[in-house]
This record gives sequence, structure tokens and C-alpha cells, in this order.
Amino acid sequence: MKGRFMKETLASEFEKLFGEPAQIFAQAPGRIEFIGNHTDYNGGYVMGVAIDKTIMCALSRRDDRKLCFGSIKKGEKVFVDLDRIVHQPRSHNWVNYPLGVVKFLTEAGMKPDCGFNMLDISSLPAGAGLSSSAAIELCTAMGVSKLYNFDTDLKTLIRVSRRSENEFLGMPSGILDQGTSGFGKANSIVFIDCLTEEFSTLPLPDKCRFWIFNSTKKHALVDGLYAERHNECAEAARILSEDGEPRLLRAFSMTDLEAAKMKMSDVVYRRAKHVICENDRVLKTKELLEKGDIKGVGDMLYASHESSRTLFENSAEELDFLVAESKNYPSIYGARLSGGGFGGAVMALTDETFDKRQAEQIARAYENRFGKAPTMFSCAAGDGAKLA
Ligand code: ADP
Ligand code: MG
Repeated sequence: MKGRFMKETLASEFEKLFGEPAQIFAQAPGRIEFIGNHTDYNGGYVMGVAIDKTIMCALSRRDDRKLCFGSIKKGEKVFVDLDRIVHQPRSHNWVNYPLGVVKFLTEAGMKPDCGFNMLDISSLPAGAGLSSSAAIELCTAMGVSKLYNFDTDLKTLIRVSRRSENEFLGMPSGILDQGTSGFGKANSIVFIDCLTEEFSTLPLPDKCRFWIFNSTKKHALVDGLYAERHNECAEAARILSEDGEPRLLRAFSMTDLEAAKMKMSDVVYRRAKHVICENDRVLKTKELLEKGDIKGVGDMLYASHESSRTLFENSAEELDFLVAESKNYPSIYGARLSGGGFGGAVMALTDETFDKRQAEQIARAYENRFGKAPTMFSCAAGDGAKLA
């Protein structure tokens, strides 16, 4: 669904549900993790791309102190008391994504002076590794801060959204998702130094396209496995820091890791090796992009996937199959799992000649192997969060 049509539909659904027009509209995009797998929470480097698929929310002020969250899909309204923001039960888990943002805006000194009505609409598949969670959080942060005229900036809204994902949703993810959704720019890649939280953009070569192949497989334990990887990286950093200040994995080289290899388990060593080499790959990718060596960039994407598959062990058979198939197409520069892993989507960077017919061939091969076709679509690099 395209921007204008999305806003018109949302405006009319909002009026139908709440009996009054919305006052504010805000939108935030999903993101592709371009390269930099599990590097963000290790204080490393990562590149993301905001895509042209977004979540848009509409808001209006209420006369009372209730927060009313509506859902078009579920056809329901959920009320929460502004003065008693508590985690909602599983059946209403979708409410926790915008609700946590309000809680942490409040904690950052941005307290709404009355309740609100909120409704959203999305062109972004949820649970596909494209970070619909960050998109709903960031469009909430942006819309709510405008509704109450909070004096704030984008970085603060990104931090508040991430804090909600970490502490309200219990997902210990880094700054990539909210940062890319915030700082994305059309036809650009976002480069993030996650230690200093500095964001910059690089132009994406004109002839590049993205294709997403969503395996639609989501590992039932995905959140637990993400946290497990997070802990393994923290353990490696703790061992490597033993003789000095506690530092994140970003601070260490392969020489440091090899020297400490005997002090850690093989699993912890391999997780650290993935992160340390992945940081190098991100920096190398930046250089290659600046030189316009897109084939070299593609090789980095394949190398990143291989490291996820063998060292970090956050891939899945389905994702490995899609990446292996990609290698048969000269018009695909590179492909890799995008996001946390353990299922979700594969991203392919292609030239402009790669088309739907070829994508369908990959989908058919996948279906022959796994009995179910992946969902797939192409997308472009779009703008970051903004008022709509
Ligand atoms: P991803 O971020 O990769 O899409 P997650 O599991 O982190 O996957 O987040 C998906 C969850 O985000 C959904 O199950 C839903 O609870 C929440 N979510 C996604 N889109 C919306 C939305 N438009 N409104 C409310 N919650 C949403
Ligand atoms: Mg998410």
C-alpha cells in the first residue's frame, strides 16, 4: 500500500472507530540489516537500509486519562490507564509495543497531559526480520511526541524506542533497528557506529535492488536464542576484558581473541570470532561501497552469511537454501540472512535485471524442497521516520 492511500485508509478507519478525526499521523519504515550481524549490541559497526514499507499511526487527544489502542486487523480496542502503565497480557501483546514507548517517554520527562486514541496501518510484514517492532515503536514515539508538542529530537526518540524493546518487550536488541528506521534515507544505506551512536548515510549504487525472501519460518525459541547469543557475546567480552576495564567485543581483534582462546569454551570463542570478523566485514563493505565495487560488496554479504551459518549458528536450513540458490544467479551480487536469524528472511542485493520471473524460480526451488513457498517482494531504500 502506497503512502497517500495508506493515510486515507487510516484516516477513514480512525474516524469509524473513534467517531472523530485523527489529529496527528506519523510513519516509520521497516529495515533490512544490510551487513553487521549481531554486531550492534556488541558496540560494533552495522549497516542498515530503511525500506519503502512502513507502519503509519494516527492519534488524537482524549478528554480523559485513558490510552485507547485500536487494531484494524483484530477489530478491537484496548484501554490502558495513563497513570498505571503495566505490561499487557499475552492476548494483547501487540499493545505492548506502542505502550512501552509511552512508558519510557514518560520516564524521559515527556509525560502526556491527557490520554489518546491510536490506530495504525502497516505495509510491513510482521515477524519477518524486517523489524516491524522497531517501526511501530518509532512511529509511536514520533506521533506521541508531536501530539503533545514535546521538545525532543530523533536520537532521543530512537533511544526511547530501543529501551522499550529491551526493557518492556524483553528483547535485548541493539540500536540497528530503531536507528535505521529513524535515520534511513531514500536510495541510501545507513552506517552506524554503535559505540558512539553516530549515524551516517552512504549512497546506494543506482543499479542496485533488494529482494526479500521470507522463509515464513519463525523458530519458536527465537527470542530465547537471541538472548542466549547476547549472553555468549557478553561472556566472551568479560573474559577478554579480564586484565583491564570491562569493554564490549568491539574493542578486540582476532589477535586478542586467539590469545585468550584457551580461557573460553569453543562455543563462546566461535560467537566472538563471528562478531569480531563481522565488524571487519562492515568496515570493508563501507570501503567497497565508496569505491563502487559492488561485486566485492556482494562477496562480503555471502561471507557474512557463511559466518552466521557456521560460527554464530543463527541461520536455518531454509535460509541456507535461499542463499545457496542465489549463487546460481549472476544478477544477484550477494545474499544473506537479515536480522536476528533462526528463521525470518533472506535479503538479496541484485542488479536491475533481476526480475520477478527469476525470483519465482527461486521460490519454486524452495517450495520443491520445503513444501511451502516463501513470500517474496522487492523493495527500495526509503526515507526514515517522519510525520505523515
Ligand atoms: P519483527 O520486528 O522482525 O517484525 P518481532 O517479533 O520483533 O519481529 O516483532 C513482531 C511483533 O511486533 C508482532 O508480533 C506484533 O506484536 C508487533 N507489531 C508489529 N506490527 C505492529 C503493529 N502495526 N501494531 C502493533 N504491534 C505490532
Ligand atoms: Mg523486532
